[in-house]
Amino acid sequence: MSKIVFFSIPAHGHTNPTIPVVAELVSKGHQVWYYSFYEFQGKIEGAGATFIPCDEFLPPASEEELNRKVGKDFAALIEMVVDTTIALDEKVCSELRAMQPDCIVSDSLCFWGKLFAKKLNIPYVCSTTSFAFNKHTSKLMDRGLKEIFRMIVGMPRINKKMKLLRSHGYEVESFVSIVQNDNETDTIVFTSKEFQPMAETFSDRYAFVGPSIPEVPDVADEGKGEKTIYISLGTILNQNHDFYHNCIEAFEGSEYNVILSVGQKTDITTLGKIPDNFTVENTVDQLAVLQKAGVFITHCGMNSVNESLYFGVPMVLYPMHSEQRLVANRASELGAGVRLKSIKSKHLRRAVDEVVANQHYHEKAHKLSQTLRHNGGYKRAANTILDKV
Ligand code: UDP
Repeated sequence: MSKIVFFSIPAHGHTNPTIPVVAELVSKGHQVWYYSFYEFQGKIEGAGATFIPCDEFLPPASEEELNRKVGKDFAALIEMVVDTTIALDEKVCSELRAMQPDCIVSDSLCFWGKLFAKKLNIPYVCSTTSFAFNKHTSKLMDRGLKEIFRMIVGMPRINKKMKLLRSHGYEVESFVSIVQNDNETDTIVFTSKEFQPMAETFSDRYAFVGPSIPEVPDVADEGKGEKTIYISLGTILNQNHDFYHNCIEAFEGSEYNVILSVGQKTDITTLGKIPDNFTVENTVDQLAVLQKAGVFITHCGMNSVNESLYFGVPMVLYPMHSEQRLVANRASELGAGVRLKSIKSKHLRRAVDEVVANQHYHEKAHKLSQTLRHNGGYKRAANTILDKV
């Protein structure tokens, strides 16, 4: 029996794919601890791991600030991550010394997990819920001017934080060495090689396992309602009332059935009268909905796109920041979706009509589905970890 410790950031998209992996490890008799945040306690304990909260160690930040940092303000994100590492340092390092884990599995953005592993010389596996990232793929990031500006302005702050890390016993060369994995690090990537851009630049230490989805019958096409549209902007930047209003305007009274997931913090009553052909919820079982959807209007979060493709559902792509734009570009380049021109209702309607009418999108999504279904998923991810212990 091995002892495995997981670390993740406070985000559903980064936590969800690890949950079936944890459950698989526990079912094989291994002990799992998971450093995370109260919002995710239920999921983590449900999978059989021991949950350890880190909430009180996160630097105080307003929600608006936090939303801005996630994906949009890289320098500020690094700053926040270093502050969290330093805040957690004493508690976690003493717990890890007592636990003596065989392996640390840390999300690719949860840099503190990687730093603890390195400092305490514990075998480390990186869990990547976005595309795998290296110096080659970083060039594909279509950063907006504002993002680049924030990054440049933030560099002196980042350098200061690197110094702080070193003074706490973390041997970091530069922030690039923290954020970028090299070809010698064992890395689980929850997508397929076929969907990953520039897959040839990654070594065989990268296990492209596909999405972490419990087995479902291979029914990519059967029983799917072409006229069912699923709409979601994910779990973070989802309070976009204009977008929801326009969706209602675009599809109200149409032949489409619309399932609209607006996120936990969006007050549904502010959306006015909900048309009969709409179901609006704060959150839905996305995996279940995708099994019956004909098209998905998505913000292009990596998990959402992976899940959509897994079930062979073509997409209307509405990315809002650079990582999502990279995912959207890849999906449209491979023909599995169309980019939304704007959130005007006429553009929403046209994009959906085009995807539904054109079998080509459907076929490409189905083709990618095959690659995402047959790479081992959470079971292979668990074995990758066990190979390390
Ligand atoms: N999700 C869900 N129900 C919803 C909306 C989202 O279960 O109503 C899940 C979805 O299946 C995915 C995750 O939340 O696993 C969202 O992750 P993603 O990377 O797509 O976007 P993020 O929320 O990180 O922006």
